[in-house]
Amino acid sequence: MRVVRTLAELAAALERPRNERRMIGLVPTMGAFHDGHLSLIRLARARCEAVVVSLFVNPSQFEEHADLERYPRDERRDIELAAATGADVLFTPSVAEMYPPEFATAVEVIGLTDRLEGAARGAAHFRGVATVVTKLLCMTAPQVAFFGQKDAQQLAVIRRLVADLNLPVAIECAPTVREPDGLAASSRNVLLSSEERSRALALPAGLRAANELARRGARSAEELLKSAREEMLERGVEPEYLELVDPDSFEPRERLARSALLVVAARVGAVRLIDNIELQPAAVAAPSQTPREVLA
Ligand code: AMP
Repeated sequence: MRVVRTLAELAAALERPRNERRMIGLVPTMGAFHDGHLSLIRLARARCEAVVVSLFVNPSQFEEHADLERYPRDERRDIELAAATGADVLFTPSVAEMYPPEFATAVEVIGLTDRLEGAARGAAHFRGVATVVTKLLCMTAPQVAFFGQKDAQQLAVIRRLVADLNLPVAIECAPTVREPDGLAASSRNVLLSSEERSRALALPAGLRAANELARRGARSAEELLKSAREEMLERGVEPEYLELVDPDSFEPRERLARSALLVVAARVGAVRLIDNIELQPAAVAAPSQTPREVLA
């Protein structure tokens, strides 16, 4: 695996695969790799002939300086893990390489970015994400780019900008990787104390409670949200937001008529965590089935 830090080095590393018309896959990351990142790299390895992983902690998407400062970083470990997982190129540019002093452009996805994560983290957050992802896509020109379902609203923003700007890239999504006890893998998990780490299980537990209810036939958002909220509160975590939304527009849904996303954010100690689950409406009972059979 080649580690490259400048655009010129990236272009040189990609010259051969591009000339040989090999399929290039990009996995954008902010480093501090965990199994979620590694699953994306593995997926890219399985689908593409040349795998580029970018590692850039993007200052423009952090609204709080303190959050950027304490964001976990371990470049040496990340390099080893990316190489062991099958990446061909690790692109880790400096801030100056990405944002030279004269830099003056932003990519903004309108509407979708106003709610939930956009509202909680400020307008700069998704503008920063959209701008840096657009730049990484232009720099690497991959045929496919890989993102995690864990950051569902970010994924929707990226799908929107790729469609709206006619960027010639396919976006592939990988399912959320969880720790054995159900907590979604996140670079921020290492910042949790052991007490906070166990309390953080309130997020997946809340999502599971609503999922159980949906499987048993509940369709009202109010009812589903109530069960998730109560489960979380019982475990000592108050959600910052908890909503049932459309997976593309992120507009709220009142009923689970077709598949929808249950999205949650909560602070556990000083660490802000997000998670989500896709809820499907339970199949409507066929005339020959009794309600008991449907429940089983
Ligand atoms: P980050 O380094 O946090 O910006 O994440 C880089 C990529 O990894 C994004 O596409 C995330 O959605 C994805 N990702 C983060 N956590 C997980 C996870 N637990 N499972 C799957 N993908 C993830």
